[in-house]
Amino acid sequence: KVVTRFAPSPTGFLHIGGARTALFNWLYARHTGGVMLLRIEDTDRGRSTEAATAAILEGLTWLGLTWEGEAVSQYQRASRHREVAEELVRSGKAYYCYATPAELEEMREKARSEGRPPRYDGRWRDRDPADAPAGVAGAIRIKAPTEGETVVHDLVQGEVRFPNKDLDDFIILRSDGNPTYMHAVVVDDHDMGVTHIIRGDDHLTNAARQTVIYNAMGWQVPKMAHIPLIHGADGAKLSKRHGALGVEAYRSMGYLPEALLNYLARLGWSHGDDEVMSIGQMVDWFDVKDVNKGAARFDFAKLEALNGVHMRGMDDAALTEAFLAALPYLPNGEEIDAGFDDAARARLLKAMPGLKERARTLVELAGNTYYLTANRPLQLDDKAASILDADARTVLKGVSERFQELGDWNAQTTEAAVREFAESSGLKLGKIAQPLRAALTGRATSPGVFDVLEVLGREESLGRIQDQID
Ligand code: GLU
Repeated sequence: KVVTRFAPSPTGFLHIGGARTALFNWLYARHTGGVMLLRIEDTDRGRSTEAATAAILEGLTWLGLTWEGEAVSQYQRASRHREVAEELVRSGKAYYCYATPAELEEMREKARSEGRPPRYDGRWRDRDPADAPAGVAGAIRIKAPTEGETVVHDLVQGEVRFPNKDLDDFIILRSDGNPTYMHAVVVDDHDMGVTHIIRGDDHLTNAARQTVIYNAMGWQVPKMAHIPLIHGADGAKLSKRHGALGVEAYRSMGYLPEALLNYLARLGWSHGDDEVMSIGQMVDWFDVKDVNKGAARFDFAKLEALNGVHMRGMDDAALTEAFLAALPYLPNGEEIDAGFDDAARARLLKAMPGLKERARTLVELAGNTYYLTANRPLQLDDKAASILDADARTVLKGVSERFQELGDWNAQTTEAAVREFAESSGLKLGKIAQPLRAALTGRATSPGVFDVLEVLGREESLGRIQDQID
């Protein structure tokens, strides 16, 4: 059974690259009938915060990237990490090193002057443990192989070979008894039964060092897939400007989780020419071996377009519900939300076909809902106010008289009435529709004005028109 894991460090929010890594782990687990676990890599006590952990859990939950069981805290497992390090010492695969900070600095200095990467020279590797200085705690270093190569069999990158002469005897347990990241990850992945490690390709060289620890313990190395990082649209490393934001920022920009997931899935992975996918389709189609080797480029315009497609593809009731649930997270959302009483909600559902045609994000959609929640008399914005000059008011008066004669009130009957009025008065349709829209919605743009008339109903519509005539 496939077991994947997402292993974020809680030093910041769940950013967009992390969300994609989580998505790939989740998709692969779902696709294979396995599970995804969650491990919070909080061993760096100085930089890890509770707030970041909470934000990561909330981001994953918003996206629907569910994990199995409780999230594991890496820090809580420190004694187990120590136990394994000590076991490696006992089996002769690791050793205590008592090199002083000054000695280590000297090694680094030497490497710098020779223009090569710093490397521990192995001075305690074969020393008699009896040489240990009294009262000094040593660090535990792994005995890395010195000859041959370590091969990482990567599902995305292929076979990646690391000459062992470049791997030094790195520390697995610090002299203060705390594990290094390298060691903790291996022990945790093993103990958690992880079968597939899917993570950013910035961890590829770590994979070689981690393989050394697996081999030393005689543990099976999980399958690995190092996925390319996300770059900006211009090919440069992803920065804030490019979209390297926390997922909560995408939530408040009005993206639907399923659209963001669809976009992230397509960043570095493809299934034929399919651009628009439901979550079910992604689960059916995703395979980590189809992830591209090259860096993916993040493009806001594409995300926005895709979000619009997802919005239009949702049925009106589901989109209405999603919109109302998202409102508190949108700019001014709480204020807008307060206007959505039961009557306004019912109008929203009726108006949704027209609203969703003209919005790519929930923020844009929210911007078009004033007429649904507004109380009479409406607050006109500047453009609407300038439309409603003396001539326009006269026009409104004429249409209003026609409207009052109507039996049935709906988009068709009101349209027919306006057309008749246009013909008899010699006015262009726009000359009537514009003032109507301004009076009914308080804005210069809105869904089709006849749909607006139907959604608002006779009484409210006539009232709003009258407010502008008086
Ligand atoms: N905690 C690491 C990170 O956030 C991930 C480690 C891993 O996936 O092995 O970059």
